[in-house]
Amino acid sequence: MADTYDYIVVGLGGLGSATAWELARRGHRVLGLERFELGHARGASHDTSRILRHSYHTPAYVRLTQEAYADWARLEREAGTSLVTTTGGVDLFPPDPAIAPVDYTQSMDEVGIAYEALDADQVMVRWPQLRVPQGTLGLFQADAGIVPAGRTTAVLHDRARSLGAVLRDHSPVLGLEDLGDAGVRVTTDGAEVTARGVVVAADAWVNDVVGHLGLRIPLEVTLEQVTYFGLEHPDRFAHLPLWIWMDDPSFYGFPTYGEGTVKAAQDCGGPSVDPDDRTSDPDPAMEARLVQHMQRMLPGVGPAVRRLRCQYTLTPDRDFVMAPVPGHERVVVGLGAAHGFKFVPTFGRVLADLVTTGETRSDVSAFGLDRPALTEPDYQAHWLV
Ligand SMILES: Cc1cc2nc3c(=O)[nH]c(=O)nc-3n(C[C@H](O)[C@H](O)[C@H](O)COP(=O)(O)OP(=O)(O)OC[C@H]3O[C@@H](n4cnc5c(N)ncnc54)[C@H](O)[C@@H]3O)c2cc1C
Repeated sequence: MADTYDYIVVGLGGLGSATAWELARRGHRVLGLERFELGHARGASHDTSRILRHSYHTPAYVRLTQEAYADWARLEREAGTSLVTTTGGVDLFPPDPAIAPVDYTQSMDEVGIAYEALDADQVMVRWPQLRVPQGTLGLFQADAGIVPAGRTTAVLHDRARSLGAVLRDHSPVLGLEDLGDAGVRVTTDGAEVTARGVVVAADAWVNDVVGHLGLRIPLEVTLEQVTYFGLEHPDRFAHLPLWIWMDDPSFYGFPTYGEGTVKAAQDCGGPSVDPDDRTSDPDPAMEARLVQHMQRMLPGVGPAVRRLRCQYTLTPDRDFVMAPVPGHERVVVGLGAAHGFKFVPTFGRVLADLVTTGETRSDVSAFGLDRPALTEPDYQAHWLV
């Protein structure tokens, strides 16, 4: 490992790996540091699948999804592999939902994203596997799709390395020092490296890193659980759209994807945890809640055959962070707020922009570190979106 690089990326999950790829493809000398082994399952970027969609609750997010689709296409082209599987997606708002459909319809209307508004009977005619109560509104958006979490992260590692990036795992960052015009010094066990700038994409552990600069981001880390259900007739679930149950509790699920099961989970259903002291064991109570919902909405699925734990890192407003540390512009933070994987190549592009030039063409005005949700101690957290 050299002792100077142009840029250093801390954390090589989806966000950090995309940033390392983006900086390397722009010809910069990049060092990526990961505390665990590459591709580990302790963070948020492992497992088979993540939802990619346009349907979002603000026009700014909907616009950012348009960029994300273009960024995924660019990654696929440059990696020479297909990553996006289009399935369509239906957001299901039961009567008197906890999540307002108007936020979604107005946001997609404003940006010009086409969708269909379906009533309960139309939903059940189109997808006989689904059971929804009368009065349910279904918003179907045809471009929704699935991206592979673990595989994408591995593709990004390969792309970054093939473009000259040095990626080191089992290399925890233990110190961060802003040297002003001399750059930023990063300490990892047994070595000190300096660079013009640093991108911190450490998700649940971000405060361990930016804490060295006196910053503490108010975050909640929860331990979520996804469950794979067996199917007697997998082909009957192959053309199911992605679905999101827009209520409290909120659930989401996938059609079959590379295996004869369907995956589903509750959004924000897990307990708060310390990321350094948490279990990987399944949680029977979380599963029981999910199974109850599945029995109502997708009665044709079989018993659970596999479970997986995964961490959510939640900002109080569930908005991203794509911004420099105030007073330390050479250190840029990226946080996906537990809905960032669909934007992985976009995070890579934007974080690379911000650390190299301080500017980006994307609208990230809502994702600063000085916003009220991250600075006002009595800000009321709300995570259901
Ligand atoms: C169950 C579940 C379902 C989800 N579903 C979706 C979905 O459908 N669609 C979607 O868009 N998003 C979804 N998300 C959210 C998405 O997966 C995350 O936002 C995204 O993966 C975050 O990526 P990351 O790279 O920031 O985090 P991580 O993958 O956790 O990477 C952070 C990395 O930093 C490393 N690190 C930490 N501290 C240090 C240090 N001191 N030194 C070096 N390295 C360090 C960690 O080891 C880790 O590898 C889901 C998340 C979960 C958990």
